[in-house]
Amino acid sequence: MKGLSFIKDHGAWEIRNGAEVNVWKDSWIPEIKTTLSKPDLIQLNDINMVNSLFNIGTKDWNHDILDLCFDSAAKNRILQIRIPSYDVDNFKWSLNKNGIFSVKSLYNSLIPADPNTNISLWSSIWSLNVYPKIKIKIFIWKCLHDILPLGGRIFVVLPSIDPTCYLCKEKVESVYHLFLECNFARVVWFSLPCGILIHSIPFQSFRDWFLNGDNMMSQWNELHFSWKDYSAFVVWFIWKARCEKLFENIDPDPIRTVSQIQQVVLFYQDKQEHSMPTSRTSNTHHQVSGGSPNLNMDHSRWIISFKCDFKSHDTNSGIGISLTNMAGICCGSRALSVSCMNQEQGSLLAALEAVKWCKSNKNSFSE
Ligand SMILES: [Zn+2]
Repeated sequence: MKGLSFIKDHGAWEIRNGAEVNVWKDSWIPEIKTTLSKPDLIQLNDINMVNSLFNIGTKDWNHDILDLCFDSAAKNRILQIRIPSYDVDNFKWSLNKNGIFSVKSLYNSLIPADPNTNISLWSSIWSLNVYPKIKIKIFIWKCLHDILPLGGRIFVVLPSIDPTCYLCKEKVESVYHLFLECNFARVVWFSLPCGILIHSIPFQSFRDWFLNGDNMMSQWNELHFSWKDYSAFVVWFIWKARCEKLFENIDPDPIRTVSQIQQVVLFYQDKQEHSMPTSRTSNTHHQVSGGSPNLNMDHSRWIISFKCDFKSHDTNSGIGISLTNMAGICCGSRALSVSCMNQEQGSLLAALEAVKWCKSNKNSFSE
């Protein structure tokens, strides 16, 4: 019923043949949104459709009938309607530029404006710097709209299933529980290098946590990493642990999950050049992070990324090299300082170092 009244509020008829529009039930008089009540007069018994207001056989208004039906203001507005000589009555929808009704525009107008579903929510999801990009963005979008297929939701339509959390077997599985309340999730958050104690932070919901967590933790901005990117990775890997338990019966291990999160986070920190060497005083190659790549991963293909951060020919430049598997998980990284004449030479040196690094680990690679 609410939808019907919305349609009446946001649409109006353009009169052409007058045969489709009801005088008393439809919106057709310009600037009059409410329907009019039919005067209780026997002469008006047959006045129902707009064409019954015309002089017979024409599209001219019958002034006598108009006087009986409407007050002078409504009558004047009706007389201003210009009626084309062709076509049938046309319903114009005000919520679309083309005037054509659509369910989408009706839906959008019916859903109350929610500050968290506005453009800033979308932009905060789509600007996430994560990998796999689309998968995690869609996943976070589902989390924020509480539409993940979790036990608690499925139980509503399939009461035969067990809605209990697969990770702790204690409470009903929900977005809030799985990512923030579950003992497994709490251990993961706390075991991260930033050591987040969930219960020490005031938040209303998972959405509140995700969108405003950095404001709730005064120390976060000192960590030089986007809260939303970081949280997206954490939540993603908790989800993977849950799915591994559900589909492969692999017992959840918070240390393994933390390690996976850290590998990805370090990789992105490298990418953002936050871990490039700051000391440029030596001409010798200097390893500052990583080491031999961790190749005990069950993936047969690898991606080597390298970059040179050239400043000038009289100061050392930084080279970053990273190894990731096809899941986007960082399995090793190196950062060196080198002396070079220009960006091109620096890039070539970076490529050379990457090849040397691959060669020195080729036995591990081929396994
Ligand atoms: Zn749980």
